[in-house]
Formats: sequence, structure tokens, C-alpha cells
Amino acid sequence: MRKNIVAGNWKMHKTQKETVALLEEIIAQQTNTNAELIVAPTFVNLAKAVEITQGKGITVAAQNMHQAEGGAFTGEIAASMLTDIGVNTVILGHSERRAYFHESDALLASKVDTALKHDMRVIFCFGEELKDRQNDNHFNVVEYQLRDGLFHIDKKDWTNIVLAYEPVWAIGTGETASPDQAQEMHKFIRTLVEKVYGFDIADALTILYGGSVKPENAKEIFSKPDVDGGLIGGAALKAADFIAIAKGF
Ligand code: PEP
Repeated sequence: MRKNIVAGNWKMHKTQKETVALLEEIIAQQTNTNAELIVAPTFVNLAKAVEITQGKGITVAAQNMHQAEGGAFTGEIAASMLTDIGVNTVILGHSERRAYFHESDALLASKVDTALKHDMRVIFCFGEELKDRQNDNHFNVVEYQLRDGLFHIDKKDWTNIVLAYEPVWAIGTGETASPDQAQEMHKFIRTLVEKVYGFDIADALTILYGGSVKPENAKEIFSKPDVDGGLIGGAALKAADFIAIAKGF
């Protein structure tokens, strides 16, 4: 059975005090959501977030991690440091990491390997830029991002993979892919996974949509058969909006 997930990527927002306040609001408001709730605060607030959400049915995820086991990588965070504090889910390949920090598909493939080696769940992000869609090249771009970043993994590891299709032109722009555009791409992705890994893996795979999801549009997007939830940026920073989105299921 496919799992519905609503994940909030908090990016470089919220001090520790603000993190605590937002989590307390989310915990207070979270009743009756038919989706797993995931929050991804900044690295420095992860341990506090794990402490506060203990036993509350909310998963804490990291926004990134380094591919090496450890060593002389100033400013970086290793998988074992995350699992050690109870963070077992990591977002990899967000378009901001790809664009501003030059994370390539090959680099992401090695991050995925490291995360899986540590039995972490990976929320793997990918999606085309506006020019790709305008040139009718969006299916190709998405296919190559998946083939080069992810399709080397073993069949058994797919239980630890969540996909997040995030068209770059819809992230933080207020532009949303229409529910039909999201469904069309999600169907394409599921079919691609099926071709390479078989029906059972494709059918069980959770595929999130990300890009300006708000309380007003979540329900319609989530009603599409191949959309299993959302990766939420801006709207995840307000508890009421985040929970209203999750109630879109
Ligand atoms: C994101 O950053 O993953 C995202 C989807 O942002 P927003 O919801 O603000 O478009």
C-alpha cells in the first residue's frame, strides 16, 4: 500500500526558538491527517526537533548530507551524525542544492548510496527547469535525472526511496503545475520505474509533488491517482497552512 506523505522543507528558516514554536503548533493541530508528516528544519535544530516530536507521529528529516563517511570536509554533515541523533530521513537533490551548490546527478548518486548504506530513507528531488518545459524536453530531463541519480540502486532499496517531482519553475514562484500536469509527469515517472524495476516497486512507490502547494490547491493536486503527497516549502512555515495541506487527503 502506497503511503501518503506531506513533507515540509524549512530551508534556511527558523531559529531554535522559532523551530520549537512551529513544531508545538504543528503537534497541537495535527489531528486527523491521513498522511505521514515530515518536517525538515536546519541542521542545528534537528536534535531539538527530534526531542520535541518524540512519540508525536511526526518524522524529522535533514535537508542534505555529505556522501563521505567522515573526514576533512569542513562544514559538512555525515549520515552517521544524523542517524546518531535520530534523524533517519534525508532530502537529497533539491533544486536549490543542484543550482546553488552545483550538486550533479553523479554526486547525488553517491549521496543516495551513502544514505541507503546507513538505512536512511531518501526523499529524492528532481524536476525540469522552465526552458525544458518550454522546449518540450521535460520528460527527457526527468528521465535522465532519475537514471543518473537513482536507477543504479538495488531493487531491495526502493522501500527507502520517496520521489519528489518538483518542477523548478514552480518552486517558490507562486506558479503551480496544474493537477493534470502533475499527474501526467507522475504517471510518466511511475511507468519509468516500472519499466526498470517492475510493477510491484512502481506501484508501492510514494511520489510527492512540490512547487507552490498551498491549502487552496492541495486537495485537487492530491486527488490525482499518481500524486501521493507533497514536498512543501513556503507554506510549511505556517502550522495552519501545513496542516491544512495535509488535510487535503
Ligand atoms: C520546495 O522548496 O521544495 C518547494 C516546493 O517550495 P515552495 O512550496 O515554496 O514552492
